[in-house]
Amino acid sequence: MKILLDEKALNDGVQEMARQINETYGNQPLTIVGVLTGSVVLMADLIRKLKMPLRVGVVQTSSYKGTERGTLTINAEMMLDITGQDVLLIDDIFDTGNTLQEVTQRIKDLGPSSLRSAVLLLKTGCQQVDWRPDFIAFDIPDEFVVGYGLDYNDVYRNLPYLAVLEPADIATTDA
Ligand code: 5GP
Ligand code: MG
Repeated sequence: MKILLDEKALNDGVQEMARQINETYGNQPLTIVGVLTGSVVLMADLIRKLKMPLRVGVVQTSSYKGTERGTLTINAEMMLDITGQDVLLIDDIFDTGNTLQEVTQRIKDLGPSSLRSAVLLLKTGCQQVDWRPDFIAFDIPDEFVVGYGLDYNDVYRNLPYLAVLEPADIATTDA
């Protein structure tokens, strides 16, 4: 595996994103909605750097099978009540943008008083939507990455760094 962002780089990027979020909301209460499962590591690190009164909830989506993009499913059963709340949606990566677009729409229907989004990564040149998340820690090239919450068939989420998955790694994982 080729390391793209090591622990120090990830921490610095998340710290800077937290600074921007703290600056945007000040002491206003905020509800975080994390998109499972890829955002769990980012959420754990980010929420501890946020200073406003914070509620933390999750919504579940999935779209990838291996490294292939598939059909998106959303399960919002576990989501907090967000009507009238300031909501910040958190995801691991903005690739085509379709996941956050659909989750954003679903949340808007529930009537939050404001809605922004934050992602660890934006994959350069892959977007199929005409907007970008409000907070982005890193732009990365169009390669399939794992670690820091991101998986390949549910493996590698626990890597403390972000790495590009190479064909040899795929062979080992699938074996
Ligand atoms: P989008 O809907 O923006 O195309 O894709 C977003 C979702 O696809 C992310 O939340 C993530 O779960 C998954 N995804 C997109 N690119 C990658 C990648 O390079 N590696 C991994 N592990 N997941 C990805
Ligand atoms: Mg995801």
